[in-house]
Formats: sequence, structure tokens, C-alpha cells
Amino acid sequence: MPEPRPLSLGELEPERIAARLNEVRDVAGEGVEVLLATKYVELEAMEALAAAGVELVGENRLDSLEAKQERWGDRFRWDFIGNLQSRKVGAVAARVRLIHSLASDSALRRLEPHAQRVSEILVEVNVAGEGSKGGIDPAALGEFIARCPVPVSGLMTMPPATDDPESSRRCFARLAELAGEHGLSRLSMGTSQDWRVALDEGATILRLGSSLLR
Ligand SMILES: *Cc1c(COP(=O)(O)O)cnc(C)c1O
Repeated sequence: MPEPRPLSLGELEPERIAARLNEVRDVAGEGVEVLLATKYVELEAMEALAAAGVELVGENRLDSLEAKQERWGDRFRWDFIGNLQSRKVGAVAARVRLIHSLASDSALRRLEPHAQRVSEILVEVNVAGEGSKGGIDPAALGEFIARCPVPVSGLMTMPPATDDPESSRRCFARLAELAGEHGLSRLSMGTSQDWRVALDEGATILRLGSSLLR
């Protein structure tokens, strides 16, 4: 999927972002975190997010995480939501509050030397069984969690792209069911398209990008 060109500071309106963010926060209520996915936002444009009252951001790539964190450091809390390459696990883990996207045995093994410093992690699950997509197969989840050197506190999923938010419901419901079976409390699910459905199905972290920015 081609990513849109990142937005510059001049293209963002903090007041509009704040209004949209507050609308989501009102619907979501206490106890649900709203994360802003910042892959569409240029380094200097992060200023508009700070002005809009964004607190939690999620990056997809280590290089942009490093650059943005060096520039904006403690203005935000930082999570990692992208494809987690195993050789970058240590560097990512050292920089973020929470990795949402642990999804391979090689990444899991690379986590071992950093286990003391990582308090919790989320496992990405390929609920829909899409061949092209990352994520642990639901049937392999129990063993994967048992092998993980750091505590797994929840699950994340990215349903197949669609124009109909309702078509994500089964994926979200299944993720919530898996979390229940494994005694996990965090559920990172729902994007601009389908966050209301994700909320219905028990999301605890919504990951929103485009709809808050444009
Ligand atoms: C970009 C991204 C999002 C946000 O997607 P939008 O459709 O822009 O809301 C959420 N999760 C992940 C993993 C992403 O890469």
C-alpha cells in the first residue's frame, strides 16, 4: 500500500486536530488510549500535534522514531506500531513505552538481551489469516507468548483494508476473545476507518492517523 506524502507544519491545523481528538476521546471514554500514528507527519510538523494536545504517538520506522524523538523528546509518549525487524528490536525497545507489533520468532529472540529493560509488550496477531500480512497465527499464540522473554500484556491486529468498518468486527471480536483466553488486558485495535467498531469490541488503544490530520 503506497503511503501518502507526509504532511508539513503548514498543512496541519492544531485546532481541527484537537477537535477531532476530543471527539474520539469523548466517545472512547476513560481507560481507552488514543494513539496518533505519525507516519504521515513530518519532523517539524509534530509541533502541530503538541499544540493540539496529542499525548501518545506511534511510529512505524526506527529511523523516523529516532529523528522525531531527538527533536521532540518528552513532548510525547512514544509507542512503536510498525513492522518490527528483528535486528532493530533492541534499539526500538530502548526508545518506546510499548511495542505493539511483536510478530516473529526472530524478533522474540532478539528481545532476550533486553528483557530486563522491557516491562511489557504486545503481540500482533494475524486474525484474518491473510498470507501477505505479518502477525502470529492464532493457533500458535499460546506457545509464542510462553516463549516470550518479557511479559505480554496484550494483543494488536490490523484487519484487511476495507471501506466497510463493519467488516472488521469479526477480527476485533476474535482478538478480544484471544486476549481473554490468554488473560491479557490490552487490545490495540481500530484505525480511522473502524475505531468505533473496535471500541464496541473492547479496544483499549485506538491507533488513529489520517482522520485526525486531514
Ligand atoms: C498508519 C497506521 C495506523 C493509522 O491508520 P489510519 O488509517 O491513518 O488511521 C494504525 N496502525 C498502524 C499499524 C498504522 O501503520
